[in-house]
Amino acid sequence: MNKYISILFCGLFLLSTAVIAQEEEPSNYNYNDAFGHDFYSKNGTATRSASGKPGHAYWQNSADYSIDVNLNETTKEISGSEIITYTNNSPDSLEFLWMQLDQNLFKKDSRGNAIIPVSGSRNGAKGQDFDGGYGIHTIKLIYKKGRRSTEVDAVYSIIDTRMKINLPKALEANGGSVGIKIDFSFTSPDYGSDRMGVLETKNGRIFTLAQWYPRMCVYDDVSGWNTLPYLGAGEFYLEYGTFDVNITAPASHLVVCSGVLLNPSEVYTAEQQKRLKKAEKSDATVMIRSEAEVTDTNSRPTNVPTLTWKFRIENARDVAWASSASFILDAARINLPSGKPTLAMSAYPVESVGQDAWTRSTEYTKASIEHYSEKWLEYPYPAAINVAGNEGGMEYPGIVFCNYESKAASLWGVTDHEFGHIWFPMIVGSNERLHAWMDEGFNTFINSLSSAAFNNGEYKDPERNMHRFSSVLVNNNLEPVYTSPDNLKERNLGILAYYKPGAGLSLLREHILGPERFDEAFKAYINRWAYKHPTPDDFYRTIENVAGEDLRWFWRGWFVNSWKLDQAITEVKYVKNDPTQGALITIENLEKMPMPVVLEFKTKSGEVTRQTLPVEIWKRNTSWTFKHDSTEELAKVVIDPDYVLPDSNSKNNKWKASDGTAIVEILTGYTGNYSSPVFPMKVTVVENNDVLELQLEGQPPLPLENEGGGVFVMEEARLKIQFNEEKNKFKLDADGQSFEFTKE
Ligand SMILES: [Zn+2]
Repeated sequence: MNKYISILFCGLFLLSTAVIAQEEEPSNYNYNDAFGHDFYSKNGTATRSASGKPGHAYWQNSADYSIDVNLNETTKEISGSEIITYTNNSPDSLEFLWMQLDQNLFKKDSRGNAIIPVSGSRNGAKGQDFDGGYGIHTIKLIYKKGRRSTEVDAVYSIIDTRMKINLPKALEANGGSVGIKIDFSFTSPDYGSDRMGVLETKNGRIFTLAQWYPRMCVYDDVSGWNTLPYLGAGEFYLEYGTFDVNITAPASHLVVCSGVLLNPSEVYTAEQQKRLKKAEKSDATVMIRSEAEVTDTNSRPTNVPTLTWKFRIENARDVAWASSASFILDAARINLPSGKPTLAMSAYPVESVGQDAWTRSTEYTKASIEHYSEKWLEYPYPAAINVAGNEGGMEYPGIVFCNYESKAASLWGVTDHEFGHIWFPMIVGSNERLHAWMDEGFNTFINSLSSAAFNNGEYKDPERNMHRFSSVLVNNNLEPVYTSPDNLKERNLGILAYYKPGAGLSLLREHILGPERFDEAFKAYINRWAYKHPTPDDFYRTIENVAGEDLRWFWRGWFVNSWKLDQAITEVKYVKNDPTQGALITIENLEKMPMPVVLEFKTKSGEVTRQTLPVEIWKRNTSWTFKHDSTEELAKVVIDPDYVLPDSNSKNNKWKASDGTAIVEILTGYTGNYSSPVFPMKVTVVENNDVLELQLEGQPPLPLENEGGGVFVMEEARLKIQFNEEKNKFKLDADGQSFEFTKE
């Protein structure tokens, strides 16, 4: 290789590397930050496959609960006795067990109370002067050997909302089982962190009871024991199992609970049982106990002071219930794809009656469950009950608590949202305490489709201007979505756990993957992780694997970081200044988030067309120039014409003819074959879309920048070409050396 060629080769080499550093625009974008491939911090494992599926050795522990509980209406005391059968399917033996004592949040000296700001919070007892928490009376361990079972007193310690039980001998790996019997009691707060409570109504108190029994912490392959305390904001992470719950309440009460009622003949009047049977076959709401009957003593069995209601729910991670003498009750059947019978039911006080209020609750419940069952995965429980309480809205398996004053669109919204939670996190059992966005955000997303579908769009969300909304979703006061709920400002939870991840899935569905590919992938995620414990990686990997798309740039920008998007049009010009030959449009990515691009073109004669560009244009460019095949002058070019991307600056999205086009120099005079007596290769100068290119035999063309006055440069290759006035000679300066070339 002689020295001349090596210089130019060196230039070529420099060119190919220098492109990376080419851009000089004041842009915050860095395509290596956005598209770097090192997104996942770990590879797939035996328990969690790299494809996003549960791995071949996936395991999960289980907890079955048998609970007898008593409600004292006057003292608001709940006292119970539970027997938990805990099965250790992990490959580890366990010397101790951890349990959640969530009621201890309402002890005056709890950690959760200590972090409530002076300005108040929706968490804790919401200002009620209250010292609650569990009384734990006895704990016994039950060991079974054949038919014989022995009970021993457990050694335990309580630390805030957690309880550790030390086992006399380690619980065996791969299927070892132990029984835990706990007698407990607590007084219900009136406002239990907006998730449970007691509401006073005209015809009696409504008890909505949740986080009411000591529950097993999850032991998993991610953190071992998950022992984050219950502080208020972070919700729950629970094992699956079967629950048998016997609730003893005043006979004047109606009791509703997760699961199926096993003894209707013991707790409902003959007339109510008849009406329930009718509701099981009715698409229209059937009144089980009417407004007028609430104060009619004949609507309850009166010969006994209390009644015991027996419920059972399987494949559930929790159980909740409500009890009140004030309940109106109505029901209708839910039509599931498999034909399995399920009942929609609502329990509410007379205060909530109204065609624009809870009188439509069962209709909403039925529609919501039917939509999600059809779209994603069939509803698994025998009943879906909406209870009017003093919570804003809270979800449990088979039962939700919604605010008794909610009406119309807000009652639809909260009902649909809380029942959407059956899919996230009741079916897909992610860790809510760490990853609120995986249940609230995914749920917010499915709610938008459900609301659009309900009753011909009666409560459809209005179209959102995402440019305007972008400052709400991404701003300097917001932590990333990925942040755990106890780790972010309380005021930011609504955006970060609900709206932003919800909007993220909508972006993926509508503008990145398309509905078909997204829905298939999202459905796969639900099916793969139903009744299991997925992590964020399992979600990301499933969507990428099923849709067949590398989306690390999106996870990184939208979920893991809080990156802004700003797409801009920076230049419009015509090929050879002639609109009939096409337009050259330059767009730029000015912030850290890349996205695909949609442009709309309007010509002077009024013709409107669109052009889309894949996100890959931003994989190695901050600025991108592309040719638009126009045949006449353009009047307007708009980037993201439908305002569907969260573009933080709309002002630079539009170009109008009055903004002017860049005038291009006609370059055809320079083109031709050139040679030099001291240079052994021919050089060809060509023109390509108004860009002059230098071509060496057998090499890709080097595009040159037009400096004007016959000077063309490629700065990164330290290459400069100066033409003479006649445009038949040029001097080439390369790396400090000069060569004269003449046109042939
Ligand atoms: Zn929610």
